[in-house]
Amino acid sequence: MANYSGPVCRLCRREDMKLFLKGDRCYTDKCGYERRAYAPGQHGQARRRKLSNYGSQLREKQKVKRLYGLAERQFRGYYHKAIRMKGVAGENLLQLLERRLDNVIYRLGFASDHAEARQLVRHGHFLINGHRVDIPSFLCRSGDQIEVKDGSKKITRVLESLGAVDRRGVPKWLELDKDNFKGKLTALPAREDLTLPIREQLIVELYSR
Ligand code: SF4
Repeated sequence: MANYSGPVCRLCRREDMKLFLKGDRCYTDKCGYERRAYAPGQHGQARRRKLSNYGSQLREKQKVKRLYGLAERQFRGYYHKAIRMKGVAGENLLQLLERRLDNVIYRLGFASDHAEARQLVRHGHFLINGHRVDIPSFLCRSGDQIEVKDGSKKITRVLESLGAVDRRGVPKWLELDKDNFKGKLTALPAREDLTLPIREQLIVELYSR
């Protein structure tokens, strides 16, 4: 996915759900999935075939990988980390993905999608607990304070995203102080905080084959 440069709406149509990869557009009637809710390609409008076990596992993995915009190697790395942690592997995997700095920036509303969040992080626009961090995969911890750097508070993309954050909502494990361009992780994300339909167990089954 990291190298995918084709039309992103195609990915939503392939996974048969909205992955919210295109910022504000995803909430309008211009959404590609809303307009054409069938798989891309020549046979996209044919009836979807029933998937095999392996097929379902693979699609679930691709879906989550695309949702967070990760490459296979990186994604698999999170799986290996998740199975070494205490608790349920699938839930650990989702928690690790949610804790990534680029995801936190997106969830707080400082960016309108994951790709934009990643670019803003790489360009060093954020401070974590007062220190500049420009690594999108940085894992945030409970209690971490995130803020937009003073010099970056006028960036149009940040302002526009913040302007639209109410429509999207901020998850309850995060706290946003919109006026001061600040946010905080009040807790680690729990499974029930993720509202998108994800069957993480299938991903664990796929990788443990
Ligand atoms: Fe997916 Fe957003 Fe495109 Fe809709 S507009 S298909 S949600 S990327």
